[in-house]
Amino acid sequence: MHFELIKKYPRTVKIVFTILFSFIVLDLLFPLPQKKEFSKEIRAKDGTLLTAYLTSDDKWRLRTELEEISPELIKAMLEKEDSWFYWHFGINPIAIIRAAYKNLTTGETQLGASTITMQVVRLLEPKKRTYLNKLGEMFRALQLEIRYSKEKILELYLSLLPFGGNIEGVKSASYIYFNRPPGKLSIAQSITLAVIPNDPNSLRLDRSNEEIMKNRNYWINKFKQEKIFSSTDLKDALDEPVERNRYAIPVAAPHFSYYVKDKFNGDILNTTLDLSLQQTAENILLRNVRRVFYKGITNGAVLIIDNRNSSVVAYCGSADFYDEGSFGQVNGITAVRSPGSTLKAALYAYAFDDGNLTPQMKFADIPTDFHGYQPENYDLQFYGNVSTEFALVNSLNIPAVKLLEQIGLNNFINFLEVCGFNQIQKQKNKLGLSLILGGCGTNLQELTRLFSAFARKGKLYPFQFTLNDDEQKGEQVFSEASSYLAVQILSGINRNDIVNLANYSKLPKFAWKTGTSYGKRDAWAIGFNPNYTIGVWMGNFNGVGSPNLSGAEAAVPLLFDLFNAIDYNSDVKWFEATEELITREVCSESGLIPTNYCPNRTRDFAIKDKSHNEVCSIHKPVYVNLDESVQYCTGCLPSSGYKKAVFAVYKPELTVWLSKNKYEYHQPPQHNPNCTAKFADGGPKILSPSEDYEYFLEKNSSQEILLLAASDSRVKTHYWYVNEKFIKKTKPGERIFFIPDEKELKITCLDDKGRDGSVKVSIKYY
Ligand SMILES: [Zn+2]
Ligand SMILES: [Zn+2]
Repeated sequence: MHFELIKKYPRTVKIVFTILFSFIVLDLLFPLPQKKEFSKEIRAKDGTLLTAYLTSDDKWRLRTELEEISPELIKAMLEKEDSWFYWHFGINPIAIIRAAYKNLTTGETQLGASTITMQVVRLLEPKKRTYLNKLGEMFRALQLEIRYSKEKILELYLSLLPFGGNIEGVKSASYIYFNRPPGKLSIAQSITLAVIPNDPNSLRLDRSNEEIMKNRNYWINKFKQEKIFSSTDLKDALDEPVERNRYAIPVAAPHFSYYVKDKFNGDILNTTLDLSLQQTAENILLRNVRRVFYKGITNGAVLIIDNRNSSVVAYCGSADFYDEGSFGQVNGITAVRSPGSTLKAALYAYAFDDGNLTPQMKFADIPTDFHGYQPENYDLQFYGNVSTEFALVNSLNIPAVKLLEQIGLNNFINFLEVCGFNQIQKQKNKLGLSLILGGCGTNLQELTRLFSAFARKGKLYPFQFTLNDDEQKGEQVFSEASSYLAVQILSGINRNDIVNLANYSKLPKFAWKTGTSYGKRDAWAIGFNPNYTIGVWMGNFNGVGSPNLSGAEAAVPLLFDLFNAIDYNSDVKWFEATEELITREVCSESGLIPTNYCPNRTRDFAIKDKSHNEVCSIHKPVYVNLDESVQYCTGCLPSSGYKKAVFAVYKPELTVWLSKNKYEYHQPPQHNPNCTAKFADGGPKILSPSEDYEYFLEKNSSQEILLLAASDSRVKTHYWYVNEKFIKKTKPGERIFFIPDEKELKITCLDDKGRDGSVKVSIKYY
């Protein structure tokens, strides 16, 4: 059949093949020009334009999609420019013949008959208007039609049309001339936009409005005759004035927009930002910064995460982007700052998973020397024998440093690396135990993400910024059980960093942790419930601290205001305990598995097959006389007149602190003063100096070194020796000082039972 055709029309077939072949060769030789760069456009979750950025050639060239333009505008454009657009193949032969005929009969050289496709070619590749270039244009038009759908070509056309100055495309023009998206234009405005590109340099809306009106009304009347739009619509359009206005492209959520612009490719970024939440957060942040402004705190930042999918719904990098006095253009969400105590929450949860810690276990919150590092609490007080729960919720420093030492600094640093703490990863070789009190660098984004893991059953997810982000897989950084324990502790309201709840009547339930950095430079509060995780920072971008700055006083009210505003009256379904969590009875004083001697008990959580089963060693039976005023050991036990009674026997250093601070507890009475028995076990525990500590002392400055040791209650006297030379006799727990005169010191403390303890230290002078 086909062969017959070839035989029948050999010439025609040859011509068709030649044309096809030359088109393919030309297509290869002259490929379509590069696509134009469009303005980067950032949209909120509901599609609202947050902001857009100039292209690298300084143009407002917003890529326009057909569905976002009003149908009237498309209709007006097609009717005016190319009513056969959907029917031709890039070139309209009838229009060409008509133009050629006109040229011949009138003697004019008009180059009309351009289709929209041909106009797109000219917009992509502007050239002089000659007959030869016109032929080139037709070839390009064919190329475009073969490669792209009609919709795509029309979109390109509407995106590239010039509107005077640096404005290109109907979307840019619609925002800049009418302050509205191109889907919300009136018919008059649509026709105005169809008219301007005819002569964009003289038809400028902010300059030649009368001329534009004349052109606009000419087309309105023409459309009326051709019955393109309804006549009542067109009558209204004729009456609509042409306003002389020029608006700026919107700038909403500037820090967020700038962040996603750099992070993601593509000219239109559909983000997860919730514009109404964003505006609420901005207002509340500004109000709170004004509240503390007189205290010398000039800025703040807020990050709000939707916990269902870890998407960013509000992002305020500073209180006022345009306030240069307070460095408003610095992004407080990504700025590296000291986290204060906020990382403690992660440390405790890590330790619950490690198995060595349970919420009711006790810590000695007393002055402690960690190889020369002697942290203090925020309020400069110590609280003695405190539970883990109390230590975390009140953010005590000694227990946190002790816990970090027990867990191992490097183990915890590795854990934070897994949790995406980039700055900590970079600093890892320089970090010490002070890390847990804020001696490291991180930012609000990393911290908020870490806390959002508590809200998602211990799984850490990457934040979603754009709607195109695929659902990410989370990483289980805490077990669900330990995550729940952290939630329970941090949602308790018996704490020192809470606001007056009477101001918040329908506040949803949430858990939170605060932090204040060294030098009072940063105030943090990070809170979460099943719905949201909110991270809050307050401080100064110039790094100046304020004596009035604290997480509790500056950041917590802001956090409460935010939860109150965005989650007001919501019936949050609170987190549920997992089956791995069991409750068990523990000794109230030690938080450990009770023995028959433990007088008081309480209930505590434990993680099945993980948590320790350590038994209480505080409550012990002791031999005493009948009125419990003298204690005996087996060496001095009389033959009658004694009994066994149970007392609380704490570690020597805690015993010293408790008696010094006059804590009343059921402690054993003094040891029989006539006892002559020698003791093999135990001996004084030297609390200062620490073993292997290096002192750096100023030469000839007579700087002194503190000697302090604790012993059990049987000991009455300590004898101090330095390099075997006797220094002084003291009571256990008494502080004395001496001036070293050698570089290597062996310090020995001997007790009245003949036992001793020693430490070695070295002295360096500068
Ligand atoms: Zn006990
Ligand atoms: Zn004795």
